[in-house]
Amino acid sequence: MQQLPAYIQEANGDLWLTENERENLKLSYRVKEIVVSEHSPYQHVMILDSYDFGRMLVLDGVVQTTSLDGFIYNEMISHVPLSLHPDPKSVLIIGGGDCGAAREVAKYASVEQIDMVEIDELVVEVCKEHLQDVSGNLSDPRVRFLYRDGVEFVKEASEHYDVIIVDSSDPVGPAKQLFERDFYQNIYNALKRDGLMVCQSQSPIFHFDVLEQTHSRINGLFPVTRMYTAVVPTYPGGLWSFTLGSKRELPEPEELRFDKETQYVNQDILQRCFQLPQFMRKRLSL
Ligand code: SAM
Repeated sequence: MQQLPAYIQEANGDLWLTENERENLKLSYRVKEIVVSEHSPYQHVMILDSYDFGRMLVLDGVVQTTSLDGFIYNEMISHVPLSLHPDPKSVLIIGGGDCGAAREVAKYASVEQIDMVEIDELVVEVCKEHLQDVSGNLSDPRVRFLYRDGVEFVKEASEHYDVIIVDSSDPVGPAKQLFERDFYQNIYNALKRDGLMVCQSQSPIFHFDVLEQTHSRINGLFPVTRMYTAVVPTYPGGLWSFTLGSKRELPEPEELRFDKETQYVNQDILQRCFQLPQFMRKRLSL
């Protein structure tokens, strides 16, 4: 039998995944079945079937997305920037191996090209086959899968994209550089003159330092910066943040209209997601 990694334990006949969130916090999920457990050159990739969250993608022991609530994150990271752009045609997704963001972007008829630059082909393969609640077994011909490091990819792109979505894992391992200033500068260069970008900027409750640094870096590069939030039960702290940088003025939230088939985003959510809690406004001086 395959040896279990340290973050999967057996207790009284049950399997548990324990995510070491931080020094004094561990989160444990009771697991029905290990569906996939494989090592890629980048990370340990697992698809687990859990009792409360259904199937989940787990990378190096960290839960990335689940059948239960993956739609909240994927809809928020996709529909907010695409609704803010008047005519999105070319979209770049960096990371996003679970395919959930690409699936949402594909709902826009105006979009002609979706480049998905994911470092790890194994993540895409297993999510398409075993995590279809999230990936929808995406097979839209507009999606071009490029198995490359997103950091290197954006160095070569110039004024090509209308929207760039950075759907990264936490700032450790291969994703660390996806939070660096140079990377955001290259994203800026890869966007057309009226383009905009969004990235996930971690938990306002547990990772305010990362959030603050991301906001400050994007704010230093783009003339317009906006931050928005959503509650994603899977992510530690629940409340999650997204930071958006735009090269041109954006419509006011009240002007946004929405007509896509979704589970979480609607016109009211789009218009209100930019309203930040007081502690965030205060610490970000907004
Ligand atoms: N929604 C998730 C979250 O916030 O936890 C993250 C989704 S997605 C699974 C993150 C993906 O980013 C992973 O599949 C990982 O392989 C990919 N990734 C990490 N570093 C990368 C890099 N430098 N270039 C491209 N993709 C990268």
